Amino acid sequence: MGNADTLPTPLVDRFNRRITYLRLSVTDRCDFRCVYCMEEKVEFLPRSQILTLEEMLAVARAFVELGVTKIRVTGGEPLVRKNVLWLIREIGRLDGLNELVLTTNGSRLEQMAQDLRAGGVRRLNVSLDSLDPERFRRLTRVGDLDKVLRGIAAARQAGFDRIKLNAVILKHRNHDEISALTQFAVDRGMDISFIEEMPLGVIGEHDRAEVYYSSDQIKADLERRYTLAPTTETTGGPSRYYRVQNTDTRVGFISPHSHNFCSNCNRVRLTAEGRLLLCLGQEDSVDLRAVLRASPDNSQALKTAIVSSMAVKPQGHDFALDRAPKILRFMSHTGG
Ligand code: SAM
Ligand code: SF4
Repeated sequence: MGNADTLPTPLVDRFNRRITYLRLSVTDRCDFRCVYCMEEKVEFLPRSQILTLEEMLAVARAFVELGVTKIRVTGGEPLVRKNVLWLIREIGRLDGLNELVLTTNGSRLEQMAQDLRAGGVRRLNVSLDSLDPERFRRLTRVGDLDKVLRGIAAARQAGFDRIKLNAVILKHRNHDEISALTQFAVDRGMDISFIEEMPLGVIGEHDRAEVYYSSDQIKADLERRYTLAPTTETTGGPSRYYRVQNTDTRVGFISPHSHNFCSNCNRVRLTAEGRLLLCLGQEDSVDLRAVLRASPDNSQALKTAIVSSMAVKPQGHDFALDRAPKILRFMSHTGG
């Protein structure tokens, strides 16, 4: 394990995986209530428990100084956090960071896309589970599809290197839209990833096992219409990619159930309250808020805590649909 005194030190865990990617959840709040992500009535964390933007920047800086080259700003809905553009601009300036990317539900993109691009965000992921306004409303409980589509159009105008759509596919809810969503991406030169629902948090809206629709089924559906060629291209995340023949579009599959992606895990997550989660599907974590607040100006203490966290990064998740969820935090708390 690296010594924080001889920086920059690559973060390497017990399984020899090098950590180069931080997912930073800037808020647990959201203006949507997606049925797979949270309950309709949710209690958000009190503000005093949430890291300030300055504290988040200190963590981001420490990670970059320790060799992290990619940061994803996420949430909750990152664009509802007040002054998030300040944080994004500051992170965008960090020396050594190659990639600043953002995941959003798109509801505020129409107003913010230009500023995000100018602030240094290179790639954007926008969640889009349906192209049918009513269905979109049902899946997000409150979302306005039109607004999101206008947001996507604004993002295309703003000149991001790449825009990727993310769609969580649920059987009998939106599995019949796999082709339409792909065609939407193809027509606009965007990528699209299909995500298997993960058992994070207890939800009452549906039985996660009943709506499970595997990546292999999605791929088979797509192959009725498109020719998919496997590609070794990667964006440094968990997607396995295929190129849609004769198009500029890649289709990715994020398959926590059917194709576990833990062996080449390169990432950790910081929750909005400063908990460093070492694995999406396990509770192992380190409380960086305590370190930050015990010695606010001591970046060395922060780095030492981060380096030490490598010793508790677990080998992998063990998601199962046939038992109650082991992880009680929702994706919105996790930093998806
Ligand atoms: N609010 C932003 C958004 O929706 O893009 C960013 C945060 S959201 C938690 C990040 C991604 O996680 C979204 O693409 C969402 O669809 C996905 N997600 C949320 N809950 C999930 C779950 N239980 N299983 C799989 N993906 C989930
Ligand atoms: Fe909000 Fe994103 Fe969760 Fe939907 S998936 S409720 S948009 S955090």
